[in-house]
Amino acid sequence: MNKAIFLDRDGVLNHEINDYITKLEDFEILTYQIAPLKRLHDEGYLLIIITNQGGIAQKRYTEEALAEMHKGLYASFEAQGALITHAYYCKHHPTVSGDCDCRKPKSGMLLEAIATYDIDPAQSVMIGDKQRDVEAANGAGVKGILIAPDEQIDYDLVKLVLAGDKFDVLSAAMLK
Ligand SMILES: [Mg+2]
Ligand SMILES: [Zn+2]
Repeated sequence: MNKAIFLDRDGVLNHEINDYITKLEDFEILTYQIAPLKRLHDEGYLLIIITNQGGIAQKRYTEEALAEMHKGLYASFEAQGALITHAYYCKHHPTVSGDCDCRKPKSGMLLEAIATYDIDPAQSVMIGDKQRDVEAANGAGVKGILIAPDEQIDYDLVKLVLAGDKFDVLSAAMLK
């Protein structure tokens, strides 16, 4: 079986602007996240993005625009040897398209990734900057780490959480 680091996108891999990111020029990659994630990648963890993009249902941007953002994101990670395996996104929004099984805090996207890539949830962790990220992870049997928006991922904390039995862990910045 495989193991994975599941990653929320906005506020974890790119700068949180507290709104949907609708255009490429607002998509600012947090390049300091690449180093800790490359270490985990090199240890055999798949890097998988799990993101709510309800702005698509709201027609604030298209899936093509999203694909452009992700192309740049993949490229900057790959340039440093950290391959992103897949970016799952929920394009629904309850006000437009009703309820779905994928929008976090639901676990649909994680469950799909786990099935598709034969991932062992017990050897995996999700990193996000909202409690709903941790909830979505926990619903799929995956541990969760809650960080502050744009906080650098702490490699040592990730390893501690993976080795431990706590499912809802706060980062150093969140503990302050
Ligand atoms: Mg976020
Ligand atoms: Zn959805």
